[in-house]
Amino acid sequence: MKNIINCTCQNEKVYSRYISEVSGGHTYILPDPDSDMREYCPFDDIASVTEDYLMIGYMLESGADTVENTLEFIKKYGMPHRGKRRLNADKFADDARLLYLHLTEITSRPYPENPEWLLETDPISAIVRADGGESVIEWQTTSLASAIELGYMLLLGSEHCRLGICKNCGKPYFAQNPKTEFCQIACRNRYNVKLHRARQKQGE
Ligand SMILES: [Zn+2]
Repeated sequence: MKNIINCTCQNEKVYSRYISEVSGGHTYILPDPDSDMREYCPFDDIASVTEDYLMIGYMLESGADTVENTLEFIKKYGMPHRGKRRLNADKFADDARLLYLHLTEITSRPYPENPEWLLETDPISAIVRADGGESVIEWQTTSLASAIELGYMLLLGSEHCRLGICKNCGKPYFAQNPKTEFCQIACRNRYNVKLHRARQKQGE
């Protein structure tokens, strides 16, 4: 795939172990500081990060339990906010839900018809360096959460790929083909069968 976001930062941290604890009816997730830590650039594969995040929002919106997926997400990509000891898993899923609803809204009607759906992100800055004749951009996002927001906006605005809501099942998806309208081929087939049956009914 074309490199949507050119970045060389190593701004995010992933630990090899995370702990979940329950208090006051909420599940919290925190890194085990004694486990191994690696640093990575969230823009290396921002499409997957964004798609996985939106999927948690979709699950919450569909009434599914999101704790397990949230834990998987954190294990893969690290904590969404820097400087916070632990993460409220419910709050995380709710934030993901808002972004999912945003995607649903803007892909289903002209934007920005409703100004309340304007996305306000954290301030984002970038450093541009010359690297052997090429410019290299290092995005300086304040957290993984703001990296996701930046990625989300850049993916939405890209003509080379598509971040969308599946026309058949409502799941968020990322596709390298900008014309894709479904999360998977099975969904496209199911949708066409439904369409065919509806047309047959009309013709009866
Ligand atoms: Zn689908």
